[in-house]
Amino acid sequence: MSQPNINLPDLQKVPHRRFNPLIRQWVVVSPQRTQRPWRGKVEHPPAVPRHAYDPDCYLCPGNPRAGGARNPTYSSTFFFDNDYPGLLPDPPQVDVNESELLVAGTERGVCRVLCFSPRHDLTIARMSAAELQQVVDAWVEQSQSLGSLDWVQHVQIFENRGEIMGASNPHPHCQIWAVSHLPNEATREQTSQQEYGDQHHSCLLCDYLKLEMGHKERIVCENEAFVVLVPYWAVWPFETLLVSRRHFGGMDELAPRERGLLGDILKRLTVRYDNVFEVPFPYTMGFHQRPTDGQQHPEWHLHAHYYPPLLRSATVQKFMVGYEMLATPQRDITPESAAARLREAGEVHYLDRNSA
Ligand SMILES: [Zn+2]
Ligand SMILES: [Zn+2]
Ligand SMILES: [Zn+2]
Repeated sequence: MSQPNINLPDLQKVPHRRFNPLIRQWVVVSPQRTQRPWRGKVEHPPAVPRHAYDPDCYLCPGNPRAGGARNPTYSSTFFFDNDYPGLLPDPPQVDVNESELLVAGTERGVCRVLCFSPRHDLTIARMSAAELQQVVDAWVEQSQSLGSLDWVQHVQIFENRGEIMGASNPHPHCQIWAVSHLPNEATREQTSQQEYGDQHHSCLLCDYLKLEMGHKERIVCENEAFVVLVPYWAVWPFETLLVSRRHFGGMDELAPRERGLLGDILKRLTVRYDNVFEVPFPYTMGFHQRPTDGQQHPEWHLHAHYYPPLLRSATVQKFMVGYEMLATPQRDITPESAAARLREAGEVHYLDRNSA
């Protein structure tokens, strides 16, 4: 077996490329570029929602939604089928194949919205353990009920947080899409995990986690069941990967105790994110779990990705354009220094510091 040639101090200074074994793509790391002057677009810092209830919010309890329905006066989590869904459970059949160049097919889907709590201003970072447990329980329940539909191959849980991520409503919520074909990212990860397993007779993410626990410099936080780290191949400035310590493939396999610990690690991470620039930190996050096609999929290891767009301050955003759009993604601050920033950010939320 070849020894990895890791010389960390050099990697912090020299441009190089790193490999992402999960989706098999490279990222260019350019640590020498962080000193360049910034004359690009500056965003407004994200605002903190101030009120527990907003009469104009279509997700708050009792309020009317855009589609005409009215929310019940719910008191914990609440889900509904998206009023403007991206996919439909029973669309007309589509089957196009012209010279293998014009190809289209049917995609069935259920698109749901899950409100984390009735509170308009209560984010994951500031929820109690009991409230977080309700969110995790809802994810498990949705994964099970949607995943058990015979035509559903994959359940994607994801959260877009913040205006600059395109979130249309600040009320803390996520979306759940259950679809009839394995999506692009899951397909890539499926192939990588399968082939790694065939070659090494072990799990890609179990082996990766073991390596990272030895190196330590990219670990952000951990508890008894989960570890959060900035992956070696991270593209986004403060990108993180949340990995379960135990090898299992889906939300439905979470032990009761692990449900609580998942809520705990999500809170620890999002507090750190908010603390980095002392703003509600925008991100897209989502869980990757095994397909629900009736197969066992022992190669799959449950994990979550966080992709935050902020770069060097609350008002400077990273854009994937130019070389990144046409060639290879590129980052300036190294994954190691991003992990150090997140470790230093601490686990007392900046809005709670005076009361702590
Ligand atoms: Zn609301
Ligand atoms: Zn594993
Ligand atoms: Zn993944």
